[in-house]
Amino acid sequence: MTIEENASLRTLNTFGIDAVARRLARFDSLDQLEEIARRTTAFAERHLFLGGGSNVLFTRDFDGWVLLNRIPGVKVVKEDENHVWLQAGAGHIWHDLVLMAVANGWGGLENMSLIPGRCGAAPMQNIGAYGAEIKDVFTSLRAYHLRDRAVVEFTLNDCEFGYRESIFKSKEKGNFAILDITLRLDKKPNINVGYGAIASELEAMGVQNPGVADVSRAVMRIRQSKLPDPAVLGNAGSFFKNPTVSFAEGERLKKEFPDIVTYPQPDGVKLAAGWMIEKAGLKGFVQGRCGVHDRQALVLVNHGGATGSEIFTLSEAVISRVQALFGVRPEREVNIF
Ligand code: FAD
Ligand code: NAP
Repeated sequence: MTIEENASLRTLNTFGIDAVARRLARFDSLDQLEEIARRTTAFAERHLFLGGGSNVLFTRDFDGWVLLNRIPGVKVVKEDENHVWLQAGAGHIWHDLVLMAVANGWGGLENMSLIPGRCGAAPMQNIGAYGAEIKDVFTSLRAYHLRDRAVVEFTLNDCEFGYRESIFKSKEKGNFAILDITLRLDKKPNINVGYGAIASELEAMGVQNPGVADVSRAVMRIRQSKLPDPAVLGNAGSFFKNPTVSFAEGERLKKEFPDIVTYPQPDGVKLAAGWMIEKAGLKGFVQGRCGVHDRQALVLVNHGGATGSEIFTLSEAVISRVQALFGVRPEREVNIF
């Protein structure tokens, strides 16, 4: 375990924001986390757990404790004829877990290839991509309750997963440090190419009967072609969530904007926020040192040296332009500090 004072967070968040944490602690085991709880006042002060920093925006210096969860490791904890259960430490890199599953031919993670970040953050917003979400393979996680100082197990139902949501972003926000996650993968994978871009990419690759490795490769190729690499252009992926509106509201929008992109859901109509931002004329829009990405309008980018508050101000401009045009307010997906 290490503790630094007045530490720069610039390399610890994918926006590359140069904020300073009053205290920065790194731990790689439950014992070390308990030691932080015993020996410091971290949990009585302002604090925040950080994984890969790919879903956060620091709008100012962090006057408190930033706790880097680096609990490593992956192991098979159970296996039967059809499934394998993998447990991964919160600090394990998500994409490394995907690559391990793909290399073994285990299905369930391939559509979520190349999502940045660490395994411990994956349940926070029920990460998802290309028609798959972590909830589809999730069985349980263990988390440390900061006030009770006890380890608690959460099953799939306990996590209350929703679209980019979980209990850890709502009712239990700030109460737990996730320690490890357990996922159930398929030894006889169900390949899911229902998400348009995957099928066309596989076709372009000349693959006819895709396996998990082909799907993973297709997803990586699509992502690399349209998403900015944070190492080159600071960003946190989609800054906004796709809003879901009532069926009636969906009808109204369809009448007014016949080409609006919508996806029916059980509880309403999901709107493609990227399309709305583009329609509002903001794709590629630059405001000072930051802007809206020119290939994917859901992504805000740091063109170099932008502060978090500049990016936050840009996000407000995007929200109000979209709201003025469509009467629908996009919500931020990125966690603001
Ligand atoms: P961080 O940014 O470090 O943390 C995110 C939140 O979780 C914070 O509130 C933090 O306090 C909390 N947290 C982190 N670890 C813990 C822990 N162990 N215990 C308790 N709380 C914790 N997301 C998707 O869903 N789908 C995508 O396809 C996708 N694509 C992306 C593409 C790019 C280029 C980028 C930059 C981001 C993308 N994201 C995507 C967003 C992001 O990668 C995911 O949300 C990811 O799970 C965040 O992981 P992280 O370790 O970086 O979390
Ligand atoms: P895309 O394929 O251009 O699609 C645009 C939007 O339409 C997506 O946001 C997606 O919603 C929705 N969509 C497309 N096909 C759909 C279908 N068959 N059924 C339901 N919804 C559909 O999107 P993209 O930007 O290239 O991203 C591809 C995938 O990676 C998406 O799943 C996206 O969520 C994920 N991604 C997420 C982040 C992040 O930071 N959260 C960043 C990059 C990519 P959904 O977003 O609900 O899937």
